Amino acid sequence: PQHLLLLCRPGFEHDLAAEVSDKAATLGWGGEAAFVANGGVVDFRVAGEAPVNGLHRDLPLAGLVFARQSLVALPPLVGLSREDRLSPILEQVQASVWSFESIWHETPDTNDGKALVGLSKALDRPLTSLLRKRGALRRKAGGRRLHLLWTAGDAVQLGISFPGNRSEHPGGIVRLRFPKAAPSRSTLKLEEAWHCFVPREEWPARLHEGMQAADLGAAPGGWTYQLVARGMHVYAIDNGPMDKALMASGQVEHLREDGFVWEPPGRLDWLVCDIVDKPARVMAMIERWLVRRWCREAVFNLKLPMKRRWQEVARCLAHLEASLGEAGVRAELRCRHLYHDREEVTVHVQLLD
Ligand code: SAM
Repeated sequence: PQHLLLLCRPGFEHDLAAEVSDKAATLGWGGEAAFVANGGVVDFRVAGEAPVNGLHRDLPLAGLVFARQSLVALPPLVGLSREDRLSPILEQVQASVWSFESIWHETPDTNDGKALVGLSKALDRPLTSLLRKRGALRRKAGGRRLHLLWTAGDAVQLGISFPGNRSEHPGGIVRLRFPKAAPSRSTLKLEEAWHCFVPREEWPARLHEGMQAADLGAAPGGWTYQLVARGMHVYAIDNGPMDKALMASGQVEHLREDGFVWEPPGRLDWLVCDIVDKPARVMAMIERWLVRRWCREAVFNLKLPMKRRWQEVARCLAHLEASLGEAGVRAELRCRHLYHDREEVTVHVQLLD
């Protein structure tokens, strides 16, 4: 079979497998998802003869919720000999007829995975030099990258990534520095959301000083901190206390109201919401904001304590799309399970007119 190799947060393999199987089926692709529970990897084995590159293109990483990285992969190599792990790798690369501009060694985001980092580092130099000699690694190769996903000391799976349809971060993990002055760890969820959903060159136009934002479920203020740092004025809606230093900025208006019923005094630039409640309830509230065009862009989390998380997310997103469609509101919708998300996903909506 041909392989689509996907990385995810350990514990979310069944959600990613369900998502990819559903989406592939809708596109007319059959296949079977293989994974080890808590392994952080899903290997989608495609049925039929059509090259898997087609599916990889039709399912861009940016449109997947639970995948951190997506690769066109070769069959896993298992039972590698300690004395010579490289020969089978070289053979597989040469038989694939692909060439590459760079090599990345990766491991699943698990403790077992972390234990393999030393081994992969030790193999990097000799492998690089052998691949160069054989012409499989060269200056110009369409930006293709060879990924070696090590799942055990004697097991590796080779994957290929293409520019424009991959995470540029090892393991698909966006590492951000925690800002010391931020009142909670959650602050990184909103920062990562912006990195993920707003192209860097558009930050000056879409995240700038003087903008107005609402933060529903704001306390103690991790998300508000990010908005304030961009120079925005923030309506912070929460019964709980807000961080004192943040309030001293003069940019925050703290209102002890119910985020599900509060209405803004006028049209805002951003709505963000991190309230812990049923996804359908949060979605209904957000839909009201968007249909009434109370904000231009929104970032919100859907909390997913249930078992079948993909099904819940799919239902919520379909509902949102239908509501916006009925109301004639054109918008761009994206949803991702971010690195800093745990049992939740982050949705971004940008109104288009
Ligand atoms: N994003 C915040 C941060 O970075 O500091 C953390 C938010 S915390 C996960 C959820 C917050 O939602 C709690 O402070 C809680 O008081 C608030 N909350 C729960 N239900 C709410 C409601 N109906 N209206 C407004 N806030 C609510």
